[in-house]
Amino acid sequence: MIPDKKKRTAEIIKRLKKAYPDAHCALNHTNAFELLIATILSAQCTDERVNIVTATLFRKYLGPQDYVDATTEELENDIRSTGFFRNKTKSIKAASARLLEVYGGEVPKTMGELLTLGGVARKTANVVLGNAFGIASGVVVDTHVSRLSQRLGLTKNENADKIEKDLTELVPKKHWIMFPHWMIFHGRQICIARKPRCTKCVLADICPSYKLFVQP
Ligand code: SF4
Repeated sequence: MIPDKKKRTAEIIKRLKKAYPDAHCALNHTNAFELLIATILSAQCTDERVNIVTATLFRKYLGPQDYVDATTEELENDIRSTGFFRNKTKSIKAASARLLEVYGGEVPKTMGELLTLGGVARKTANVVLGNAFGIASGVVVDTHVSRLSQRLGLTKNENADKIEKDLTELVPKKHWIMFPHWMIFHGRQICIARKPRCTKCVLADICPSYKLFVQP
């Protein structure tokens, strides 16, 4: 174990970067607006399901005006299989309307502006800023990042915004965009929610949770 959290974080980054050289945003998109829509749809839904839905959706809806023009019922039906489709429809319609009214139909490039769009919280804003624009505004905290950060002893918090604050203090800014991708890849392949594969983990000797899952 490395007791100093910053040094442990640096070692975690070094090892995960080596283990997942191809880590990337799993939501298919060709521009910032598509990524915004895909990220809204990804709440409580797998990226695979979102990609199936957006493969059709992005051919039908080419920009914010198309989402504004669609009836609520039609859009709900088009995104139904991603779950929570009523709330997601409201968010997409509100965000599209505001993009048209205030930002000339373009996705803004600051956290403050993105948070004024309906249904866009820090996680969505960080995903869009980091992956569409290459702007490191914070650290994306999803279910995998939360779980792994706790298991690896990088945070004691459960609230996403507080976890993000802890991570921004530990992870150098140059890694803010990629760090969540490495953690998500590790969370999907090794540090699985229900049964982590600790004996196969490259972080085993520096993870405070190893002993909780592996009997001596
Ligand atoms: S040792 Fe186990 S709990 Fe720790 S990061 Fe690896 S898989 Fe997760």
